Amino acid sequence: MKKTKIICSIGPASRKYDVMKSMVENGMNVARINFSHATEIEMKETVDLVHKINKELKTNIGILYDTKGPDFRTGKVKEDIILKEGNTIKLVKDDIIGTSEAITVNYKDALDKINIDDIILLEDGLMKLLVIDKDLKGLTCSIINGGVLGSRKGINVPGVNLEVPFISDEDMKDITYACHHDGDFLALSFVSSKEDILEVKEILKKENSDMQIISKVESNTALSNLDDIIKYSDGIMVARGDLGVEVPMKELPIIQKQIIEKCRKAGKFCIVATEMLASMYTSSRPTRAEVTDIANAVLDGTDAVMLSGETTTGKYPIDAVKYMAEIVENTEKYIDYENIVKPEYEADITDTIARSVVDASNMLDVKVIVAATLSGFTAEKISNLRPKTIILAACPKEKVAHHLSLRFGVYATLLPVYESTDKMVEEAIKKTKEFISLKENDLIVITGGFPNNAPVKRTNFLKIERI
Ligand code: PEP
Repeated sequence: MKKTKIICSIGPASRKYDVMKSMVENGMNVARINFSHATEIEMKETVDLVHKINKELKTNIGILYDTKGPDFRTGKVKEDIILKEGNTIKLVKDDIIGTSEAITVNYKDALDKINIDDIILLEDGLMKLLVIDKDLKGLTCSIINGGVLGSRKGINVPGVNLEVPFISDEDMKDITYACHHDGDFLALSFVSSKEDILEVKEILKKENSDMQIISKVESNTALSNLDDIIKYSDGIMVARGDLGVEVPMKELPIIQKQIIEKCRKAGKFCIVATEMLASMYTSSRPTRAEVTDIANAVLDGTDAVMLSGETTTGKYPIDAVKYMAEIVENTEKYIDYENIVKPEYEADITDTIARSVVDASNMLDVKVIVAATLSGFTAEKISNLRPKTIILAACPKEKVAHHLSLRFGVYATLLPVYESTDKMVEEAIKKTKEFISLKENDLIVITGGFPNNAPVKRTNFLKIERI
């Protein structure tokens, strides 16, 4: 079984029962719903499909909502418009349907912050404009690099603070929606500081939501506040699309490695995203460079990799998942499990047990580590120490099982809380046999915090069982 988790963005190509089911059977672990693109009806359809498939396949596919964030975007165009090099185009505040002469933007005031001679990049830098004139209505730009522009494409203005508020009214509505529509994870676009995360945590608290927060690192400001952002988030996404526009692209590989290493040290999960199998929008096979990129992300120590357009509108959503799963699983054989960066926790009982579990399972070549866990904490701790074997988290709550869907090497199964440790071990072994085929003499390690219903998170138990 593969250990690296796969997030699939859901769109018209994958919002179909047969396709999504096959994606799950081939290795999808989390469904991503992007507020920038999905309508309410589409979001509901996606959530319903995930529930149906989870029930049928006994999986724990998590649901990740991704906010629009202070994402500066072009407005609607009637049909794709062609931007020709050498021509000019206006960016205006009036709410118009875009043409090749003028388009509008989502944050009108941001146009006031842009000046003559600034460079404007559209669609992750695919198209490039130079501002040549400015008035109260907006900007006139010369087209430096042309292309085909659709509706609501991302705009970046490197080096300019557009002063777009972190949470717009629309974001507020979307976050509240995610809180009440089975969100397990909330990915925050364009986080720039810990204050942004704290603001969202307040909303989640008010809405009584336990969604885990994923900060998307996609700007220079986020990179300068990285340690704080990691500290206040549950996980981090290396959002290479926007990041690759904000920083020189040649820096991306090193930034990716640095972010993953910091996440590993802090014990937070990390996701590498964007263009991992971009050629598979239209091709049934990946390029050599894409295969190598995915493998390198695994060797860097990421917990998860993500598919975007490949699975939303691409021609081969199932094949993309299949290739990705094969690549990660093959690469996992070459991870240096003993020496991969480990979290710098302060030594306590939980940590000592978790380390012992990992040492024992590596030394004895056990088939699976079974972690009885109420909150997911024990499984997370062990996952962060990167044992060679997979971890089966036996937990009573579906929500916890979903939260673990992004953790490296962790699969979850539902098991009630038992008062007696012996009963728990007995039932955990039964569940393990349903999950993985075990032969006589196979070894498994069982760990957890006992009594299982203790109010404080702690891991204090380790048992090695021979089948
Ligand atoms: C990215 O920029 O790489 C990303 C994942 O974010 P989005 O898809 O929202 O642009």
